Amino acid sequence: MSRQILIAGNWKMNKGAAEGAQLIKDLKAQFGECPCCSCGQKPEVLVCPPFTTLSAVIAETAGSCLEVGAQNVHWAEKGAYTGEISAAMLKETGVTYVIIGHSERRQYFGETDATVNQRLLAALKAGLKVIVCVGETLKEREEGVTIAVIERQVRGALANVDATAMKDVVIAYEPVWAIGTGKVATEAQAQEVHQCIRALLKKLYECPCVADNTRILYGGSMNAANAAGLLAQPDIDGGLIGGAALKPADFATIIKAAFAQMNA
Ligand code: PEP
Repeated sequence: MSRQILIAGNWKMNKGAAEGAQLIKDLKAQFGECPCCSCGQKPEVLVCPPFTTLSAVIAETAGSCLEVGAQNVHWAEKGAYTGEISAAMLKETGVTYVIIGHSERRQYFGETDATVNQRLLAALKAGLKVIVCVGETLKEREEGVTIAVIERQVRGALANVDATAMKDVVIAYEPVWAIGTGKVATEAQAQEVHQCIRALLKKLYECPCVADNTRILYGGSMNAANAAGLLAQPDIDGGLIGGAALKPADFATIIKAAFAQMNA
């Protein structure tokens, strides 16, 4: 089963409009024109800037194969939710993806499996694709409950998501202890969890096509040096990348590793 690799950059709260547009210019310069101008099978490449940077980045990526996503979305269509953004508002900007349930949202902003699910359902309903993040803390890994935690998070996130809607869902396995720490999961550690997530999808959905087709990304200190090894794992279908996505040369190296893996 060949799944198109997805390389997604999560800029977090970095880069205003001018800096964000410049980052896209610098990234495109790494490829001559844009990543799509290379030959062979192409990975999907996505950047997720802060809300206020979206329109500048969408303008700068126009005509290239780079896609743009947001980092969060609210579940309500409109109303008294100061500071929040609805899925329809995101859709109107031109984004195609939204990240949901990032561990920083869970850790600092009180996201739960239930609110992750609500956001996910609202995003899908509005026609957005989602990258839903799951991952265990260091304490949970040390206590030996990694798989149980991941299963709970995946089941919670996907409640009431039917098999047809799963074509727009990407899962990102991001061990919390590896995010922004420089401590990357080993290829074997990452592959083990990815395989368990795929096995869980087989249990959750009658049609085996869901488990076979759903992309599962790895996130957590993926960088130019370790990307190729991680992307070579059979159940790792791409990366959600924080720090290295802010460095055009490093992000380009990761994209090139994805091209190499897809054309190996
Ligand atoms: C992330 O923000 O999702 C992430 C994986 O960050 P980093 O690559 O910096 O660890």
